[in-house]
Amino acid sequence: MFIYLRSENNIGDFLKGRAASKSTAHSKKVKRQENKVNAAKASRKKALAKAKAKISIEAKKKAKELEKKRLERQQKREQAKKVLEAINTVLANDAFVEYIHTNVGRYGVEVMKRLTVPKTDDALANELNVKVNEVRRVLNLLSGYGITKYDTEKDSKGWLTFHWYVDVEKLLEFNSNISTKKEEAGIGLPEDCDDFFVCEKCFDYNKVVLPFDVAFEHSFKCPDCGKPLKRLSKEEAKSLLLAKEKVI
Ligand SMILES: [Zn+2]
Repeated sequence: MFIYLRSENNIGDFLKGRAASKSTAHSKKVKRQENKVNAAKASRKKALAKAKAKISIEAKKKAKELEKKRLERQQKREQAKKVLEAINTVLANDAFVEYIHTNVGRYGVEVMKRLTVPKTDDALANELNVKVNEVRRVLNLLSGYGITKYDTEKDSKGWLTFHWYVDVEKLLEFNSNISTKKEEAGIGLPEDCDDFFVCEKCFDYNKVVLPFDVAFEHSFKCPDCGKPLKRLSKEEAKSLLLAKEKVI
């Protein structure tokens, strides 16, 4: 009996103990599940945050690009406005118009008017409906005065495209030189250049004196006929242009 009771007690203890350990096991299981759920939640949250961060980086990048493009467009518009204003200023000066007409030809002014944004010689030739060689002659003449300049762009085949534009500062400087009738009025050879080049064959016809960088771009060959150019000092270039003016 005693034994029985003891064992009954033992059984009770055993059952209690089993129940307790069962409940511990159960709560451990629940805890593990909770942990699993929490970990999954945390990982989803992390992934979401990462995705959001990525989106925000991309959005910022895109916004930055758009802003850059907007600024570029604005700069282009402002530059075009500046060129247009300068061209209107010089075209109001009869002496300037006459000078360009006499020394560059009848397309001189027309070419300038169309260069409020950079253009290629082909585009200008199309707009004016004249031969591209005539446009090139005008552009080279104007570049001799420092009025036109160009940027080059290489295409996939390695061909260079010249994008011509008006140097507003030089244009206005040239215009005021003509207005104030300085001795070398209108010659406008670039100040920062000491080497000039001329094609002896074409000068009588095209009146082009090329500054160093333009001659360099043409590999020191005449843009009109392809013959090697002759080098001139600044003084020689000036007297050549002055002599030309006296003839006219
Ligand atoms: Zn030539």
